[in-house]
Amino acid sequence: MIRPGCTLGILGGGQLGRMIAMAAAQLGLRTHVYAPDENSPAFEVAAECTVAAYEDEANLVRFAKAVDLVTYEFENVPSETAATLSTHTLLAPNAQALAVSQDRFLEKSFIAGLGIDVAPFATFSDEAELVEALERIGRPAVLKTRRFGYDGKGQVMIRADVDPVAAWAEIGRASSIIEGFVPFEREVSVVAARTASGAFAAYDLCANEHSHHILDTTRVPAGVSRETEEQAIRIARSIADALDYVGVLAVEMFLVTEGGRERLVVNEIAPRVHNSGHWTLGGAVTSQFEQHVRAVCGWPLGSTTRLGRVEMKNLIGHDADAWEEILAEPGAHLHLYGKAEARAGRKMGHVTRVFPERD
Ligand code: AMP
Repeated sequence: MIRPGCTLGILGGGQLGRMIAMAAAQLGLRTHVYAPDENSPAFEVAAECTVAAYEDEANLVRFAKAVDLVTYEFENVPSETAATLSTHTLLAPNAQALAVSQDRFLEKSFIAGLGIDVAPFATFSDEAELVEALERIGRPAVLKTRRFGYDGKGQVMIRADVDPVAAWAEIGRASSIIEGFVPFEREVSVVAARTASGAFAAYDLCANEHSHHILDTTRVPAGVSRETEEQAIRIARSIADALDYVGVLAVEMFLVTEGGRERLVVNEIAPRVHNSGHWTLGGAVTSQFEQHVRAVCGWPLGSTTRLGRVEMKNLIGHDADAWEEILAEPGAHLHLYGKAEARAGRKMGHVTRVFPERD
């Protein structure tokens, strides 16, 4: 039984780990953050820190023994790291959630196996198989590395004039999948939580706009029909149940409109708190970070009720220089991640604005 006063271990020291640690502190937990970079934003708000590599077995064992439970803020936790931690302490979400979400081929196969729509996809091991798969799937298509792709990295669009073999070379001939381009109208995501006993709570569906492959704005409500919203949440629940998932997860989907009807196509799963759930901090009764802590600890889940019409904007690079103006804005919730250097494309903070609900 995890109680207030216990220590939550957090693997990963970025802004997600930082916001989990702050939510844990609010509930009377101590936190211990493990990350390789000594300048990790989460270190500033944790009781204990370990600066060590994710492959450093001795430090991982020491960390696991010093905490009551470990969670993580990123999906690329090496499987050996997850196995070492699981041997010595509780790990939530589980290793299966990591394995599935780390590999786009396993992920799409798993989701399709649940009867949920995904883009047509195929894996291939050589140039001939790539050309054959592209013929089957058709153009435009998207070539994606199976592993370590994020924010559009490790991805190439195969339009009419693109040589697929050259495109594959561009991503280092890494083990990849090819998938059909989905002519989506909007990108949406479900952020939801599940506990070990199967309790489940989802936030309202959010609509996400990207700029240069990085999330720029999240809006809630997403402006879809009630049936589509309910279906999106059913999809997230069936994925969470099938993974015996514990914690907060995000399911990213494409909304396609065909002949006036809405259809959802799942793109990917994030086994962690997610940028498209940042609006819940200030925009919902319980933030996704608090919900994640509640879920991994096996505590009652909090209310996901939204407090109005919400807009979350990421502050990328020098956007965060406007912090004083944002602070002067009545009702704007500003969150800065404590990163020293505002590099282009770097997430420095976010701002959430809550407006009265429209009729
Ligand atoms: P991903 O790394 O899979 O999240 O993809 C990054 C972004 O690329 C998505 O948010 C979409 O905007 C776009 N994208 C990825 N896959 C597809 C697809 N099959 N069809 C259309 N757009 C896609």
